[in-house]
Amino acid sequence: MTNQSSGKNGLVHAEAPIFTRSVPGRIGYSLPKAFGDTENAEAAIPEGLRRKEAAELPEVDEPTVVRHYTRLSVWNHSIDSGFYPLGSCTMKYNPRVNEKAVRLEGFGLLHPYAPEAHTQGAMRLIYELGRDLAEIAGFTQVTLQPAAGAHGELVGIKLIRAYHKAQGNPRKKILVPDTAHGTNPASCKNSGYKAVEVKSGPDGVLLPESVEKLMDENVAGLMVTNPNTLGLFEEHICEIAEIVHAKGGLVYCDGANLNSIMGVSRPGDMGIDVMHFNLHKTFSTPHGGGGPGSGPVGVHDKLAPFLPTPIINEKNGVYRWDYDRPQSIGRVKSFYGNFAVMVRAYAYIREMGAAGLKQASQMAVLNANYVRAGLESTYDLPYKTPSMHEVVFSDKHLEETGVTTLDVAKRLLDHGVHPPTVYFPLVVHGAIMIEPTETESKETLDSFIDIMKAISDEAKTNPEVAKAAPTRTVVGRLDETKAAREPMLRYKPDA
Ligand SMILES: *Cc1c(COP(=O)(O)O)cnc(C)c1O
Repeated sequence: MTNQSSGKNGLVHAEAPIFTRSVPGRIGYSLPKAFGDTENAEAAIPEGLRRKEAAELPEVDEPTVVRHYTRLSVWNHSIDSGFYPLGSCTMKYNPRVNEKAVRLEGFGLLHPYAPEAHTQGAMRLIYELGRDLAEIAGFTQVTLQPAAGAHGELVGIKLIRAYHKAQGNPRKKILVPDTAHGTNPASCKNSGYKAVEVKSGPDGVLLPESVEKLMDENVAGLMVTNPNTLGLFEEHICEIAEIVHAKGGLVYCDGANLNSIMGVSRPGDMGIDVMHFNLHKTFSTPHGGGGPGSGPVGVHDKLAPFLPTPIINEKNGVYRWDYDRPQSIGRVKSFYGNFAVMVRAYAYIREMGAAGLKQASQMAVLNANYVRAGLESTYDLPYKTPSMHEVVFSDKHLEETGVTTLDVAKRLLDHGVHPPTVYFPLVVHGAIMIEPTETESKETLDSFIDIMKAISDEAKTNPEVAKAAPTRTVVGRLDETKAAREPMLRYKPDA
């Protein structure tokens, strides 16, 4: 095993809080006299709005600021620094050409209040992206307003509610499988529904009879992820959709796992009525640092009247925002959504073309199955059905060593690899959910498989090593709950 990506190599700078570098009177800027005249500037601020005491800011020169943040930036693992097999998150490479597109002046400097006549290019991009997404997933209309997947879920469930309300009864419950992402039941609850859990079958997929048993006229719909979070295709989806529809319900698809089926099959053709996309997952836009994202929602015609306002229309090559939508659930985001994320996704779709998107999905599935084949004789594999884009192992084979999934994840950091998603989905005890994505080479996957095997072997001979990991990172193992319970939001020199 080469350790060229090991956290022990390279320059890892120690970096204290920037306040420790503060020197009274030192400044990192110079302003023209008119602005720099502090007395006049202060006088221009109404008395009541002036600070009583000076702001507690570090006093530092510009190189110090640049170095501080540059050093901190390399403490974080990113998709540009190493392998990032974070299951369900589709941490694929973000092509640089997307960044070039989004920095074009006409996009990057566009003001959201600019009139329609001045923004036709941007409007065309939004329109065409919506049309492409509709085509990819098999829907007729798409809104690009939602800011993330979870936001898309909320919008989708609100659409379901608006639809039922228009029929006279919003209904009370939504069925959600036990493999669902936590945001699914939360979206139901926040839209006024009770989330009712459906147990998945012994093979990790939903069985039609389980849905049939729970389905009645009080159920507004089913919220299903396909492929599901075990990385398994819900093979009974068409039959299940029929069962839901027969009782007047609708089917929502959490589209976070679209990366495994693009160009191969379409949720809109499987009986799905409404679905969100995660542009920051499937369509290669950067994420992992907390945003911004984009969670467009696709629907068939029967839900289209309820989509958020405004919707973009095209007539004779002219694009217009349509605000005249009496049945709409209203606006869900300021302006038109996270436009910069849309530009990147649009550039990606244009670069890839239909054939490229299909190949991406096929390679994503191949890579996940390669990792699965490489590790299934070492790690416990709870479900034997072939994987789609991700594979879920467990720590069962390490039971006697005392080493757990958490320790394996921490030890991976010492090898320069971002840990997979752990302890999710909840149906697998000690889950290790690996999603390599299509953008990783065979060499990277081989190296990861070797590292995972080495960690397992080491756990059997020297379990204390994994228990103490990570030891090669700048920050060691943290108290899991302290940061959440006692957040330290201000620099305190004595803390
Ligand atoms: C990521 C994810 C979500 C939530 O999407 P965000 O864009 O993070 O809000 C929902 N469901 C599944 C299965 C996901 O992987």
